[in-house]
Amino acid sequence: MTLEAITTRLRAAEIRTGRAPGSVTLIAVSKVQPSERIDAVLAQGQRVFGENRVQEAQGRWPAFQARFEGISLHLIGPLQTNKARAAVSMFDAIHSVDRLKLAETIARLADDEGRCPDLFIQVNTGAEPQKAGVLPDELERLIASVRALSLPLKGLMCIPPADQDAAVHFRLLAALAARNGLEGLSMGMSDDFETAVELGATHVRVGSAIFGERVPPKE
Ligand SMILES: *Cc1c(COP(=O)(O)O)cnc(C)c1O
Repeated sequence: MTLEAITTRLRAAEIRTGRAPGSVTLIAVSKVQPSERIDAVLAQGQRVFGENRVQEAQGRWPAFQARFEGISLHLIGPLQTNKARAAVSMFDAIHSVDRLKLAETIARLADDEGRCPDLFIQVNTGAEPQKAGVLPDELERLIASVRALSLPLKGLMCIPPADQDAAVHFRLLAALAARNGLEGLSMGMSDDFETAVELGATHVRVGSAIFGERVPPKE
């Protein structure tokens, strides 16, 4: 797959479901990818990228930002509060807000830094013990707290359990967002982004289908 093939499939899914072409944001997930591949995708015009880890992003994006205009970075992995300042200063969106303490930290740092990324609350729709995200039952309380902090809450994000039908989880996330008056839906990855668009995704996070299989980092 290439960026062009994925973009073509994304446009087709938008049109099939009556969405405006180009209305879904394609986040190219560049975590653990060699720099040459990112360079090639930037050269093809892609500007929105997703990273899982603050430190990895800090290590390589400043150099790309010096060479390419208009890059937008989205943090899609779990965020520890001790990395929150760096995240607030470098990312345009954080998709992994999942607890009050983190939201409070982001609010304080956003004041300091004079900027605040768009925020998505990650929902653990499969209630998997090892996975980040707020449980569906606790979501409304967290939404209320985030709103009380006057943070720019845009939507919800999920990563469905690997062994289940992703559509069930996308539907649940869309229902939770609608019930809470949220428009943003960050859902869908390489194997299921078209299904996600059909179920209302506003942001899809596609890694390996654009860049190729991830190259594991050397220890
Ligand atoms: C790695 C990752 C992706 C992209 O996964 P692919 O299957 O390579 O498309 C999307 N979202 C999150 C949260 C990820 O960690």
